[in-house]
Amino acid sequence: MFELPPFRQCPRCKKETFGTLSVGDNSVTKRCQQCRYSHDEGLPDLDKRVIYLDQFAVSELYKTKSKTRKPGAAHEKFWQDCYAAANRAYLRQQVIFPISNLHADETIVWHSPEELRLAHEMFSGETSLERTEVIAAEQEWQFAEAYIKKQPAPAISFNVDDILTGERNVWLPVFHINVNSNMSIFAPGIRSDRATAEASLQDLADQWAQKKPTFDEVLKHELNAYGPAMRQALVAQIKRNEAAMASNDPSSVLQLSFNLINRYQQLTDLFIKSGTPRNAAFNEVLKFLDWPENHFQPAHRIFAYLFAALAWRISSGQRTAMKASILNDFNAIATYAPFVDAMFVDRQCASLLTQGRLRSEISYRAKIFSMNDPNAFIGYLDDISEQAPPEIVMLSKDLYGAT
Ligand SMILES: [Zn+2]
Repeated sequence: MFELPPFRQCPRCKKETFGTLSVGDNSVTKRCQQCRYSHDEGLPDLDKRVIYLDQFAVSELYKTKSKTRKPGAAHEKFWQDCYAAANRAYLRQQVIFPISNLHADETIVWHSPEELRLAHEMFSGETSLERTEVIAAEQEWQFAEAYIKKQPAPAISFNVDDILTGERNVWLPVFHINVNSNMSIFAPGIRSDRATAEASLQDLADQWAQKKPTFDEVLKHELNAYGPAMRQALVAQIKRNEAAMASNDPSSVLQLSFNLINRYQQLTDLFIKSGTPRNAAFNEVLKFLDWPENHFQPAHRIFAYLFAALAWRISSGQRTAMKASILNDFNAIATYAPFVDAMFVDRQCASLLTQGRLRSEISYRAKIFSMNDPNAFIGYLDDISEQAPPEIVMLSKDLYGAT
């Protein structure tokens, strides 16, 4: 490691050679290039906003940063301004844009995994969001505990720090260490899953267009689908694993996944610990999955509303090409919107959220932004930068060259 500018007067040798060595947590280590005298200085407390950027926004921002965006591509000015605004708010230690598993899944199918990995780390503040399925499982767990105690649906708390890996409120390091691992080997499995998801979503859309269900019909169906869908997914996971174990293709073992099997094993144990006889416990779990109060599980509920809004649009004649990525967007919103301060999402999703029923019947913390009103997002980021305390603005200029 070596000292970085700006160089100030060294307290010991008095030369103008006292620079920044490193930043860690909430202090900066300074050292003299000449006499090696060094000391730590405390840094002010921070309270960073958390913003989720969808895959599209992340890649546009990264391409803007790395100057690999095609000259003259649509919205060039917006992405330049957006990059500058995001970077300023980020370096002023006012905001982080954490990575999520939804990014990782899509990153892998990108033609250049390494680039997109760097892209996600760009503004992450070395944090990542808990995986969506883990958050959903945690909500399910709290509902199961209420079910066992014969209580109504529990109130879920939405503290963003509970779903963040890494520290939200530490000063950014001045040296960024990039952990590099190539996960492309998993890409084929994800590709085929996405293709399947796309095909079944297209089937559904065709049915909606034909049968014209109402918003309420689809909503009710989705809310009630919790139990059947979970059981089906669990059975499918078991079958896939059995087939992989039985096949002669060693690489198929890489495709094994146990998340649902473990999830329902743990819930079964919870029932046993709560007094359900061992041989009846799994059946009780299956019964719990059909508990009507599960309609209020936050991630499940928001997802169901988005789904109903989409179905309603299509059944009232709006034809849009169905991309499996919309399910990823739904998943991101349903899981993270109650926790984070803001989200930049797909234009179609953002407009679904403005549907009357969604505005009045579901609630979440995040302000939603999209390309429908791109300048509103820049305004939001600029406000955040402007609100930074002067002391932090000065320090961020010194330490990171922030403007
Ligand atoms: Zn010195």
